[in-house]
Amino acid sequence: MVDTQQGGFKRVWFITGASRGIGALIAEAALADGNAVVAAGRNVKAIVERLGESPALLPVALDVTDEAQAKAAVQAAVEKFGRVDVLVNNAGFGLLGAVEESADKDVRRMYDTNVFGLLNVTRAVLPTMRAKRSGHVINISSIGGYRAGAGFGVYSSTKFAVEGITESLYAELKPLGIHATVVEPGYFRTDFLDGSSLIVAPEVIDDYDETSGAVRRKATQMNHNQPGDPKKLAAAMLKLVDAPTPPLRLPLGTDTLAAIAAKNEYVTQETEIWKELSGSTDFAD
Ligand code: NDP
Repeated sequence: MVDTQQGGFKRVWFITGASRGIGALIAEAALADGNAVVAAGRNVKAIVERLGESPALLPVALDVTDEAQAKAAVQAAVEKFGRVDVLVNNAGFGLLGAVEESADKDVRRMYDTNVFGLLNVTRAVLPTMRAKRSGHVINISSIGGYRAGAGFGVYSSTKFAVEGITESLYAELKPLGIHATVVEPGYFRTDFLDGSSLIVAPEVIDDYDETSGAVRRKATQMNHNQPGDPKKLAAAMLKLVDAPTPPLRLPLGTDTLAAIAAKNEYVTQETEIWKELSGSTDFAD
């Protein structure tokens, strides 16, 4: 719901990972559209350098893996703007490598941010949304959150978790007047595939050269050449929050649309082929 009374802002957005990439662009688009923005990130100086200073902007320190910091950041947001209308759980990064090549410490680090971090921030924000019986939780998943493939298996598993969490949030929050949407970007031109963000598994197993190895090579070529325009993604977020009935899932990019169609067809066909065995396991009574 749009409340133009408090502070004269359309909505109050809380965006994680707002220092660069998709998070910074959503922050810029929301500010330009008359919203207040709580821009959360590990490096507050980088946020101020990127977004400047404005009465509509509150930069806050937030490493999403730190639950106490998430609570403090939300408290600062509510003290300044009185509410949080839109939470964008955007902070995240990828791990490139075959499942077997992915080291335990890298897997845990990614889960700490992409899954447990998202949960930390969501738990911190929801009490204020529930109190107002309004709000919108937007979780940034991925094309890999709908279908997994060679090379990004563990990353995809974190985004599958984000999809499951959001699907449940959608059901739990709807009766409370709060929307939940999981956004599935395809490949967008940010630092996602860059060494400054992406972890590349140091172990390389020759047996995976044609599968995960091919994806490693493609990712190097694609870095900063991805088809998706992140400014258009940011503009789409403004449309999403204006929708009277926002969707549970919002795929973004023609690559994601093609991947969803292919997966849906595969699942339909495979389920049909195996339906006799699948339907044979109930008790007879
Ligand atoms: P970038 O690498 O450009 O930005 C990632 C952002 O996440 C940075 O602001 C980074 O902060 C922040 N971040 C990482 N870990 C943490 C943490 N523990 N706490 C707080 N902030 C953190 O990538 P994108 O902008 O592309 O990625 C944004 C989201 O979009 C991610 O969730 C990603 O998985 C998803 N996505 C991206 C796709 C793409 O092709 N670009 C495709 C599908 C999904 P810092 O500056 O401090 O490093």
